[in-house]
Amino acid sequence: MDDTNTLMDKPFSKGDSVPKEGDYVCLPCGYQHHYKAGEQFGECVSCMSGTPGGQHEEFVEGEEMWEKMTLPKAE
Ligand SMILES: [Zn+2]
Repeated sequence: MDDTNTLMDKPFSKGDSVPKEGDYVCLPCGYQHHYKAGEQFGECVSCMSGTPGGQHEEFVEGEEMWEKMTLPKAE
């Protein structure tokens, strides 16, 4: 049994700690960013979600917007 698996599929908010290194996707725009474990999620540099000036007003600071990419092993 490994409890960490249950934490990996929910979206994360700006300011949350990165639980596991990997590629995360900005839900509003699809931008991908590679985060390392122990870093903090930030605003999206593509659509600026996570900031008051973002293009997606529903995704301001505190909203969950980063989701772990779960790609099948390929290539
Ligand atoms: Zn974005």
